[in-house]
Amino acid sequence: MSKTKRVYFFGGKTAEGKADMKNLLGGKGANLAEMCLMGLPVPAGLTVTTEACTAYYANGGKLPEGLMDEVWEGMKKVETAMGMKYGDADNPLLLSCRSGARASMPGMMDTVLNIGLCSKTIPGLLKKTNNPRFVYDSYRRLIMMYADVVMEKAEGLDFGIRKQLDDMLDDYKHKKGYKQDTDLTADDLKGLSEEFKKKVKAVIGIDFPDDAAKQLEGGINAVFKSWNGKKAVSYRRIEHIPDDWGTAVNVQTMVFGNMGENSATGVAFTRNPATGENQFYGEWLINAQGEDVVAGIRTPSPLNDATKNDQNKHLPSMQELMPTTYVELDNIRNVLEKNFKDMLDIEFTIQEGTLYMLQCRVGKRTGVAALEMALDMLNEKLIDDKEAVMRLSPAQLDELLHPILDAADEKKYTVIAKGLPAGPGGAVGVVALTSEKAMEYRAKGITNILVREETNPEDVEGMRAAEGILTARGGMTSHAALVARGWGKCCIVGCEAVHINLEKGEVKIGGKAYKEGDTLSLNGTKGWVYDAAIKMIDATENPRFREFMKLVDKHRTMSVRTNADTPEDARNAINFGAEGIGLFRIEHMFYGENSEEPLAKLRNMILADTTGERIAALNELAPFIKATAKGTLAVMDGKPLTFRLMDPPLHEFVPQTEEKQRELAKEKGMAYEEIKKRIDALHEVNPMMGLRGVRLGIVYPEVSEAQFRALFEATAELLKEGKKPQLEIMVPLTIAVTELKNQKAICNRVHAEVETAFGVKIPYLYGTMIEIPRAALMADEIAEVAEFFSFGTNDLTQMTFGFSRDDVNAIVHKYTEEKIIPADPFNTLDQEGVGQLVQMGVARGRQTNPALKVGVCGEHGGDPESVAFFFNAGMSYVSCSPFRVPVARLAAAQAAIKGEKR
Ligand code: ADP
Ligand code: MG
Ligand code: MG
Repeated sequence: MSKTKRVYFFGGKTAEGKADMKNLLGGKGANLAEMCLMGLPVPAGLTVTTEACTAYYANGGKLPEGLMDEVWEGMKKVETAMGMKYGDADNPLLLSCRSGARASMPGMMDTVLNIGLCSKTIPGLLKKTNNPRFVYDSYRRLIMMYADVVMEKAEGLDFGIRKQLDDMLDDYKHKKGYKQDTDLTADDLKGLSEEFKKKVKAVIGIDFPDDAAKQLEGGINAVFKSWNGKKAVSYRRIEHIPDDWGTAVNVQTMVFGNMGENSATGVAFTRNPATGENQFYGEWLINAQGEDVVAGIRTPSPLNDATKNDQNKHLPSMQELMPTTYVELDNIRNVLEKNFKDMLDIEFTIQEGTLYMLQCRVGKRTGVAALEMALDMLNEKLIDDKEAVMRLSPAQLDELLHPILDAADEKKYTVIAKGLPAGPGGAVGVVALTSEKAMEYRAKGITNILVREETNPEDVEGMRAAEGILTARGGMTSHAALVARGWGKCCIVGCEAVHINLEKGEVKIGGKAYKEGDTLSLNGTKGWVYDAAIKMIDATENPRFREFMKLVDKHRTMSVRTNADTPEDARNAINFGAEGIGLFRIEHMFYGENSEEPLAKLRNMILADTTGERIAALNELAPFIKATAKGTLAVMDGKPLTFRLMDPPLHEFVPQTEEKQRELAKEKGMAYEEIKKRIDALHEVNPMMGLRGVRLGIVYPEVSEAQFRALFEATAELLKEGKKPQLEIMVPLTIAVTELKNQKAICNRVHAEVETAFGVKIPYLYGTMIEIPRAALMADEIAEVAEFFSFGTNDLTQMTFGFSRDDVNAIVHKYTEEKIIPADPFNTLDQEGVGQLVQMGVARGRQTNPALKVGVCGEHGGDPESVAFFFNAGMSYVSCSPFRVPVARLAAAQAAIKGEKR
């Protein structure tokens, strides 16, 4: 016998395990033990540990030595507790063999019921129960499950025996004119059992084992095997459950819901998992066993009258039919919630009027339900406010912030294409193939979906005008994705099944053509496309959302700012709780609405031939910069606002097609050839690594000067108006302190000039982005000049990986699929690699400048896992798009609460 205990008993009011032993006993086993300890009615049984499962695989997929001896030893206790004997001819005990991993994997692994029925035990059970229908119903179920799970799947075979037996059953019912399983008589079932056994032998070539001991061993073996079943393995991939956890096996005394009209089986939630309402919610079936409730063989009945719905309102509830048992179950519901302090999902069976609990676990729930339950349970003093904050996952909060497709309605339609879920929520509208069309629809009040090959900055207005965006190309950080997420707009990118033919005015999706005006629905949370108008539900502001966020802020220590470039976005973000702007991109004024004028001035500056021409163009541009700066500073009154100096490569702002270049030439009254020459001169092989960021200001100091002056003047005017602007100037793409010094000299001079001219003191901070690995390495020197750092984790990821973020999507996809990297580093910060640079940058910077403010701007600032990392790295704030602000607030609070617990 092995030294470590591998078999744990539960039954009566005792148990060798308890709730917090999930790692060893699996969730099901640990909670079965806990329910016994709570004195609830649980049929006695044994839990074979997850360690035994690991040993099983180490042993080449065979039961480890001595394990069955321990099981038989444990069975003695089970038999005593239940007053029956396994395999006995007179008083036979039957067993179920149930899987149960640490984390719930509903329906992914296998369970076999009614184990122990064989020619030796059947007569005894017949005599004892005097219920041949029940005995043969149990027997035929055993043969079906055992043949499928133990004889076929566990052996790696694929005959589809389950389906063949199901078909036999259906044919038989059909022949007899029966509608339901319950119409089958004892003789029918007895005959079917014999036919089943013949079929099993004919298909698999082995006899169904007529021996109780063999059946149990086979059952345990099969449950271990099912850990590596196809379904289970792919579920683990999706849920990130490690392969080496293993499953426990619960060997439990059978109780029977199929003994007649006074017996039943059911599943329930202690509160409504869809709405969170504090009402007992569940389904049950009379004279049924196991999975019948969820299998959809019969429409299950409602548990109580309060929760009847359209499908089941004609059926009697348990409250009506078995009032005493219902009250008993309802009491158990309360006892369970008090003990587990959460909403639970339970499974129960009633055997001839006696109630048994077969399972309980913390129940899955929607975002709305999670919110309602957390606050209700806080009011009920079941949990404290820290726990309430922990109860809503960031993903669930996100779900609350976007209108979504009605899941029930969505199920009625078929997905026509799948892409990357770039912007969550749902959208329904007609196809628009161009931005112009989207705007036209919008003007007429027609909701539309902008469908594009990919989007570029020129599509911004069309994107605004669309309800949702669908692109054929691009990754999670493509232009469309960034913009859409920023607006909280539903967006699917990289949907390869989409083929646009603008000449024909149609888009082919998976072979079928759609014209402008045809309706599509998008599920942006999943990346699914439909060609029907699916119902939408408004998941927006629940009055309790604000109540919840107050709790969140009470426990949050790190600030949350937003990335916003317009007064409108800034207002929006403040509504979502932003405490400042961590990234204002000056160049935003050159895109979209009202951009024609400033863009024309910018082009003049870009295409200038001499410094003089450039300065003249900048003088005309400056008022525009000042105006947008002032507008947003006014909205942010009293809250910090970080302006990033112009960053992108300049070629992005000049037309690239001949047609557009000719137009520009005409506009400027210049020869086309001259314009073309100047634009060609801007060409760079790697523009993202070329003349951009601070390099622009070093090469053209007058460009920085104009921006400094506009920012200081805007601030000075607001100060004089009695406002409290908090200006922060941020230099992008820095690699050395000398760059910062070079620019600071200009900044200092302009600052002094503006202060004198306006006669006010203008406070401000001067800082930099850390977005090139060298900057993180040189952070100590850089912090001698910079008053704050903002980690630009998008570029930092791009530069550290050497992944071009605009076109690396296909590679990243392959890399994650092949597990070369664990996740898309542009979505979730690569903590091992890029994370080191962040930690190093913070540490080195604070070495020379202990007062250094440190933050993050970039998409990672809104990613919950990354936010937790940034919190632990000692950041002062994270900054993310307005719609991500609540999510970042929650993630920051949860990180702080977890940090306290450590
Ligand atoms: P899953 O993990 O897929 O939910 P379970 O192990 O819970 O699988 O088994 C499925 C169903 O089988 C249970 O919901 C219950 O109805 C039935 N069942 C399992 N064990 C027993 C038992 N000992 N007595 C009666 N029914 C059982
Ligand atoms: Mg279950
Ligand atoms: Mg950058």
